Amino acid sequence: MDDASQARLSDRIRVTVGSPRLRTRGRIITFTRHGVRPMNWPLVSQFRDGARLAIFLSCLGLGFAAPAAPRSRPNIVIIYADDLGYGDLGCYGHPTIRTPNLDRMATEGMRFTEFYSAAEVCTPSRAALLTGRYPVRSGMCHDQFRVLRNNSSGGLPKDEITLAELLKTRGYATAMVGKWHLGHRPEHLPPHHGFDEYRGLPYSNDMQPSPDSPKGRERFFAERNDYWQTPLIQGTNVVNPHPDQRQLTRDYTETAVRFIRQHKRSPFFLYFAHTFPHVPLFASGTFRGKSAAGLYGDVLAELDWSVGQVLDTVRSEGLARRTLVVFSSDNGPWLVYDQHGGSAGPLREGKGSTWEGGMRVPGIFWWPGRIQPSVQHEMALTMDLFPTCARLAGATLPDRPLDGVDISPLLFGTGTVERDAFMYYRGATLYAARLGPWKAHFITRSGYGPDGPSTHNPPWLFHLGEDPGEKWDRAAQQPEVLARIADAVARHRASLVPVPTQLAETVNP
Ligand code: MG
Repeated sequence: MDDASQARLSDRIRVTVGSPRLRTRGRIITFTRHGVRPMNWPLVSQFRDGARLAIFLSCLGLGFAAPAAPRSRPNIVIIYADDLGYGDLGCYGHPTIRTPNLDRMATEGMRFTEFYSAAEVCTPSRAALLTGRYPVRSGMCHDQFRVLRNNSSGGLPKDEITLAELLKTRGYATAMVGKWHLGHRPEHLPPHHGFDEYRGLPYSNDMQPSPDSPKGRERFFAERNDYWQTPLIQGTNVVNPHPDQRQLTRDYTETAVRFIRQHKRSPFFLYFAHTFPHVPLFASGTFRGKSAAGLYGDVLAELDWSVGQVLDTVRSEGLARRTLVVFSSDNGPWLVYDQHGGSAGPLREGKGSTWEGGMRVPGIFWWPGRIQPSVQHEMALTMDLFPTCARLAGATLPDRPLDGVDISPLLFGTGTVERDAFMYYRGATLYAARLGPWKAHFITRSGYGPDGPSTHNPPWLFHLGEDPGEKWDRAAQQPEVLARIADAVARHRASLVPVPTQLAETVNP
C-alpha cells in the first residue's frame, strides 16, 4: 500500500477514545497481504479502547496514533503525621511554625477545613484509615487499652481488607514507610496486609523506654535518644534494635523517594506514616534549633521538608498529573505534653478526646490538573480514602459495611456526596455524633485529664458552624435535631456485629 492510500485510509477512520465501540466515517475495513477489504463488526468490536487500536494500526504501518487513553490507575500517596493538630500548620493558621511545602501543597490542591480521623488515638485511627471502617467493626479499639502496646498479642485481623490489598487487585506496587501500630508480631506486620515493602517502627516511639531511663514525664523532654529503644523493622525483621530517632524522618524520606523512583512506570501506592510529632520529639541536626516554635517547630519543619521531598520527586519524575497525594494526621495534638504537644487551633481539647480538637485534623489533597486549588468546607473523613481510592483505581469494593464514602465528586468539583452522621468513638464507646453542622455529645471526658466520663441526657448539642469551639449547648432549643441524630445512631448501631477486641491480650514483648 502506497503513502497516498495510507493517507486516504487514515482520513476515513475516526477513533473515539474510551468509546465502547470503534466509530468510523467511512467503510469498515481490514487489511490483508492482498490489500484492503471490508472488516466484520465482531473483529472491530475487539478494539474497545483507543490505545489497543492504536497499537494494532501502528503494527500495520498506518503511521498515525490515536490520542493516549486517560490513565485509569493514578498513583496514590498518603502521608500521615502522628499527633499533629488542626492548628499546627502555617496553612491552618499557626503563627510561628513554618511549613512552606505543606502550605504550597494546600495552595496547589484542596484544603479541607472539616476533615476527620475516625478515632482520637493512634491504633484505631490507622485501622480505620486502611479499612474504611470504624474500628469497632474490626476490634481495633478498647475502652481501657486504647492502643496496641509493645506486649500486645493482637493486630489487624487477617479478614480485614486493607487499601493496599484492594489496590493490589489492580496491579499496584505497594509500600508502607514509617509507624505501623496495627500489630508488631510478624504475622501482623504490613507485608501480611498487602504491602510489598515495609520499613519503619512497629508502634509509637515512646513504647519501649530503656530500662535505664528515668521514670515519669521528664524523660519525654530530655531529648535523649538512649532513653528509647523502639526497633526499626524492614519487611518483618528488626534491622536496628535501637535506631537514632533524630535520623528517622530522613531515613523514612529516603526510603519513600527510592520507592517512588523505582515504581514510576507502574501504578503505586505509598502509605508514608511519620513517627513525629508524637513525643518524645527528635529532629536532625539540619533542623534542630531553627524554629521560633522551639523543638516542636523544628520537628514539623523537618516533616514539612519530607513532604517537599516527596512532592519534588513526584514532579521531577513527571508523575504529578497522575498522582494523588494526601496529607493528614491520625489524631489531634497531645496537649498534656505542653510545648511539645502541638495545637488544635480554635478547636476544643486534643488527642484522646472526642471534642473536635481530638479528631478534626488537617486534610490536604493534591493532584495537579485534576484537583482545582481551593478550600473545601464539606466534611470528609480519613475513612473516605478507601472507597475514593477504590474508585480512582477501578477496584471493586468488598462486600461488607464501609463507613467512608467516595468523595471524588468533591475533589473534582463534579457534585456533592451523601453521608449519614459521623460517629465519635472513644475506645469502643460512642461518645458523640455529628449530623450536618450539629454535634451531640452523649458522654464527654478530657483526653488525658483526671476527670471521669460525664454522661449527658439530654445530650449536649453544639452547632459547629456557629460554635466551632463547642461552648454553647443548644439542646433545649433543638429537640428535633436531637431526634434526627438519635435515629442516625440507631441506624449505625443496628449495622454493628460484635467482634473480639485485638487490644487487650498480651504476651512477653
Ligand atoms: Mg497519634
